[in-house]
Amino acid sequence: MDAPRDPDAAHDPDPGPGRAAGLAELDRRVEGCRACPRLVAWREEVARTKRAAFADWTYWGRPVPGFGPSDARLLIVGLAPAAHGGNRTGRMFTGDRSGDVLYQALYDVGLASQPTSVAADDGLELYGVRVTAPVHCAPPDNKPTPGERDTCRPWLVQELRLLRPTLRAVVVLGGFGWQAALPAFAEAGWTVPRPRPAFAHGARVSLDGLALFGCFHVSQRNTFTGRLTPEMLRDVLRTAAERAGLP
Ligand code: SF4
Repeated sequence: MDAPRDPDAAHDPDPGPGRAAGLAELDRRVEGCRACPRLVAWREEVARTKRAAFADWTYWGRPVPGFGPSDARLLIVGLAPAAHGGNRTGRMFTGDRSGDVLYQALYDVGLASQPTSVAADDGLELYGVRVTAPVHCAPPDNKPTPGERDTCRPWLVQELRLLRPTLRAVVVLGGFGWQAALPAFAEAGWTVPRPRPAFAHGARVSLDGLALFGCFHVSQRNTFTGRLTPEMLRDVLRTAAERAGLP
């Protein structure tokens, strides 16, 4: 099976978020980014070597753009694409266990058209929700370095600026995303309290009226151990959706 988009068509030799006129343009531009040598090498090596179960896939092997409508009222911020998930399918949280949990919960609370997300052409629609990450390339061991996180921040800053007219609530999954997101919100023009609020599951912060919610990450480690249950995730999503005026 192939990732449905043509990666070569998306390549841009001079990518950068600053000139994007809209989210579609930003998404196209991020797909061509090669700013982090370690992550470029990793995402492409994984795409070449593959996992045996996905041997018939043509892996995406590039930065994974955000997914969801350009007038989203609710934003979900994760960590980074998974090597055999988003890096294979080209869509955030798609094709891995974390995504299974997230999209099932979004469907359960009425924010997604279907409970599964398995490929970029599977017809899934999100209702008023966009899913993104502070790092757009799959990192080894799911651990980007602080330098890679900072290098990728301009993409998130620009995404936030473009979403600002409609954005009312944000759910940040995990401490890494939280630490990456707060400076991005500050850079994008929101007032972030000092000292910066600490991450916790259930944390809630107001940034100039924008409601920011903390939620444990939907990682297998959290969901398999019961640290994050489907009910806990649904509760956060439901509260954030209500705050955003959804569905
Ligand atoms: S992680 Fe971000 S900045 Fe680094 S190469 Fe990927 S898209 Fe570019």
